[in-house]
Order: sequence, then structure tokens, then C-alpha cells
Amino acid sequence: MTPGRIHPVYANMGATVFERMSALARETGAINLGQGFPDTTPPPELLEAGVRALRDRSSQYPPSGGLPQLREAVCAHYDRTQGLALSPGEVTVTSGATEAIAAAVLALVSAGDEVILFQPAYDAYAPLVRRAGGIPVSIGLQPPAFRYDGAALEAAVTPRTRAIILNDPLNPAGTVASVPELEAIARICVAHDLAAICDEVWEQVRFDGGPHRSLMAFEGMAERTVKIGSAGKIFGLTGWKIGWTVARGELAQALGRVHQFLTFTSAVPLQWAVAEGLAMAHVLNGLQSQWAASRARLRTGLEGAGLAVLPNAATWFLCADLAASGVPLDDAAFAERALREAGVATVPVSALYEGRGVPSHIVRLCFTKSDAMLDQATERLGTWVQSL
Ligand code: GLN
Repeated sequence: MTPGRIHPVYANMGATVFERMSALARETGAINLGQGFPDTTPPPELLEAGVRALRDRSSQYPPSGGLPQLREAVCAHYDRTQGLALSPGEVTVTSGATEAIAAAVLALVSAGDEVILFQPAYDAYAPLVRRAGGIPVSIGLQPPAFRYDGAALEAAVTPRTRAIILNDPLNPAGTVASVPELEAIARICVAHDLAAICDEVWEQVRFDGGPHRSLMAFEGMAERTVKIGSAGKIFGLTGWKIGWTVARGELAQALGRVHQFLTFTSAVPLQWAVAEGLAMAHVLNGLQSQWAASRARLRTGLEGAGLAVLPNAATWFLCADLAASGVPLDDAAFAERALREAGVATVPVSALYEGRGVPSHIVRLCFTKSDAMLDQATERLGTWVQSL
């Protein structure tokens, strides 16, 4: 084949920072607090539901839009937890939230369209927008608070802007958009006729007691929002790759059409298990308290190791501020050396920014791990940070 046939978006692309850190952790035997996944026993109720489905139910194609029972369970879950009135036809089950994001971008973005992203951003967003022919326009949120600024969003809108991508709660920051911030974002979307792709995979992983508020529920947003959820995040089963989109009207139909030619459908026994799991309040509450305890343990451990930890209201992550900790390394050097010298994998937050004004003093650590792993990791980091 003539060289240069690969699409330019992929021709020189490296592995994502999450994949890279996990591969290095596997190679070196480091404790992996990098990529976000639990390293604890999954809820047995979910595993048993999956086994039962594998044994007793059909393993053939469910409808492309998803197992009807799961689509119904997603509606019931959002009615209970967020007061959203949805119907099963508005839900499309996808192979994880990453497919859902791709489906939303492919459904909404045409050549030359501008799409506004807020950084730090999941590193899939910009390449997906570019592959769809769109132009990502980034707004950098700044630590320690990572607040949204309506004026900055308004200033980024041009006649070619078609959509925004919002990740709330925000990974890696662990922050949650306030109601006035969401109101401002919604007002701008309505005023400029923008679609909103809302990556809300952390909606169920909250530690501040607040209810999740979807941008979809704000005035004028229902018809222009794709709300994306993830069973992987809700149940701590990241390898199951069951996610979904929620949207209204023609947007819902378009998402179903994109999905039918992306993956068509997703592992049906796992869809059964997730459908059952969403109705198990004790499982959801149990995970919540388990993660809250791990979050407190990692915070205490990191502070004991001499690291300043930023406030966190959501997600599986804590961020350490290297500058405030007096650590004489930028985040990329810290992540590289902590892995090789301390045996702890982290994620440098600068990897989730592109362009200028990138903060280089924040590293992200995942806390959904066993107590023993968290204790060993913070002990190792403490000794190593002292030696710098
Ligand atoms: N959401 C994951 C994280 O933040 C990454 C997702 C992935 O690796 N595909 O670690």
C-alpha cells in the first residue's frame, strides 16, 4: 500500500496516557493509581446476575438499541435519582461511554463545524471531533477550582460553533459544575443553537451529598442534549463496557442509526446484569460508602506523604498539587519518575490539555483500590518525595 494512506488523525497518534501508564505499571510491577478502575472485589450481586444471564438467557443479538429491560431500567434509574422523565426509546445502549461519545460526535458534527471542549478533557474528545471533520476549540479550566466561566464560553462561540462537550462531574479534577454555571452554559447553548454532548459518567460517584444535575434538565436543553452514562463507572466494572446515550426526538433516532453501524449491540448477558443492578439500591449505596472510605484513606496517606491534595467532590480521583507541595518536578516528570523510582503509577493532568496555558503541576491518583494498595502506594510516595 502507498505510504500515507492512514487517516491523518491516526497516522502519528500515540497510545492514550491511561493505556501507557497501565502498560508501564504492568511492565514494572508498579502499583497502578493511574488509569481509573477499581482494584477491589466487584459487587457479587452483579457477577451473579451476569452468570445467571449467561447460563439461562439468550446469547443472541438483542435489539440494536439495547435490551428493552435495560433501556427501561435506565429510565427508572434516572427517574429515581435525577427526576428525569424518559422513555425507553430515548435510550441507546452502547459499548461503554467512549462509544456513546463517538456516536454523539458522528451524529452531530459535520466538516468545518466547531465544537467547544473544556480542558482538562478526556483525550478521546478532540480526535473524535477531528475525525468527524470538525474543529475542536478548547477552553482551559484552571486549577485548583476548575470553574466554568460563561464569558469565556460566550467568547469562544463563532457562527461555525455547533456543539459543546461537557464532562460533569469533571475527570480528572473531581469537581462538579454549580447550578449557576450550568444555567450559564445552558443559556449560551440555547442562544446560539448549540447541541450539548454531556459526558455524565461520574453522575453516581458523588461525595458532597449533592444530587446530580444534568444539563439536559435545564431550560431549552432537553431537545439539544445527548446525556451519556456508564455502568462501568456506576458499578466499578470498567471492563464490562456497557454505557448509554439518552436524547430526545430526532437526536435519539440519529444516535440509534450511528450505533447500529458502530458496534450494532453490546454483550447481552452484561446488559441483563446491569438492568438488574440498577434496581439494587443496596449495591449502589454499598459502593458509594466503600469509595468514600478509600477516598478518605488516599487523602490522608497523600497528605502524610507531604503532598497537598486539591478538594474533590466526585469521581474516583484525587489531584495532588506539586507546586503547593514544594515538589521540584513538573507533572510529566513526576509521573515518569514516581513510576520508575517509587513504583507508583499516576496520571499527569497536563496530558489532558492541548495548546497553551497548560497547568503542569497537577497529578491525578485513583483511589478505588484495596486499603493495602493505597497504604503501600502512599508509603512509597512519601519516602520518594522526601528524597527529591
Ligand atoms: N476514564 C478512564 C480514566 O480516566 C480512562 C478511560 C480509558 O482508559 N479508556 O482513567
